[in-house]
Amino acid sequence: LESTYINRTATSKERYDEIQSHVPAGVASTYRAWDPHPFVVDRAEGVHLHDVDDNSYLDFDMNNGAGMVGHTHPAVTEAIKSQLDNGTLFTHPHNLLAEAAKELKKRWDPVDLVRFTNSGTESTMHAIRTARAYTGKDKLLKIEGSYHGVHDAVLISKSTPKGKLGHPERPAKVIESDGVPEAIADTVEIAPWNDLDAIEEIMRNHVNEIGALIVEPIVMNVGVTQPYKEFLQGLRELCDEYGIVYIFDEVKTGVKVAPGGATEYYDVEPDLVAMAKSIGGNYPVGAFGGREEVMRTIENGAAHFGTYNGNPLVLRAVTTVLRDVLTDDAYQHVNDLGEKLAAGYEEIMTDAGITGHVKNVNSQGIVHFTDERVNNYREYLEHIDEEFHENYWFAMLNQGVLPHPHHASQQWTISVQHEEEHIDEHLEAFKNIAPRLAE
Ligand code: PMP
Repeated sequence: LESTYINRTATSKERYDEIQSHVPAGVASTYRAWDPHPFVVDRAEGVHLHDVDDNSYLDFDMNNGAGMVGHTHPAVTEAIKSQLDNGTLFTHPHNLLAEAAKELKKRWDPVDLVRFTNSGTESTMHAIRTARAYTGKDKLLKIEGSYHGVHDAVLISKSTPKGKLGHPERPAKVIESDGVPEAIADTVEIAPWNDLDAIEEIMRNHVNEIGALIVEPIVMNVGVTQPYKEFLQGLRELCDEYGIVYIFDEVKTGVKVAPGGATEYYDVEPDLVAMAKSIGGNYPVGAFGGREEVMRTIENGAAHFGTYNGNPLVLRAVTTVLRDVLTDDAYQHVNDLGEKLAAGYEEIMTDAGITGHVKNVNSQGIVHFTDERVNNYREYLEHIDEEFHENYWFAMLNQGVLPHPHHASQQWTISVQHEEEHIDEHLEAFKNIAPRLAE
């Protein structure tokens, strides 16, 4: 399967070699480098990516989930064009700040005030800083296996290797990157997902130190791993009891699993919400917002600056996406397609005798080819069959379908531009390869 891929992507290989001589690992984000070589993109439109060998891929990765509107959405492109002649960067206040903030507030009940950023990383970084400033407590509590971007505090225990996990109720702190000082680990505690008792114990032991808890309300970076019923509400109550600011990282779930993200989907009230990706329709924008009292900390002490923050270009994209593109009808459309894709996978796996679990929430999902359904990062590590996944992934690429990003821990995104025929095409590709995979 891999050799077929290599044959199909000879020009990509040449170009990739050239890029690597100028850019470390030949990519702009290290996750994008994979063996034998990533295909090199020429262009995208609608629901398709085209590589430099002229292969096209029906795209369900959608830019790691940033593209719920699909590529080159006409309304978003038009909105951007309309801004180009009126200035693309103002380092002064402008009306779109209020317009875009209002759209986010409509979707998130707990959000009274909003600040804009340029990425998910910046959104979680500033949410955490604001929480620490508000509580006056320095420590962050973070979930084992959750990803929140690349600033130092969250580069701990994201993808801990098997031998270093430590006690299940008291996961080890493992720094994920050279260059992150050891001392950073002293400002973070790590907790297991879906275990309220273990989390309470950690909060109790560090009651004067932990000022912020950050969670992905669905652990999207461990393959759409949902919370147990009552888990998120349980965390709400624990945060109140121990004086901790409760942060939802909705970079991947926001405006996707429901119009108001996981906050709406599970009906739980965090204090702060970090957002990015699909709020901007493929333009680089993030935001964080939340309870007035917490957000006002930014006015007296907690730093949040940035030259490109809230530039009119990306805020045009945000207002267009939230007002005009992600409508109620659009959610109905993508959610229906999501159910169809999930059901199709179940059926084909049953027929072909492939063991696995479809894990999906509305338009987001993944198939884990595991004997058991995994409910946290450790179970994922324990049960995932990397080789099987790799075979599936290359086989799908060879059929012209990009089912999700490279890693088995990632999810598919169904965009508003996908149609029923694209789901059929995706399932047809899987059906074609299923017998061979089953062997
Ligand atoms: N939080 C979550 C849950 C994410 O999935 C990501 C990116 N995959 C980030 C934060 C970081 O966002 P960005 O890549 O825009 O910095």
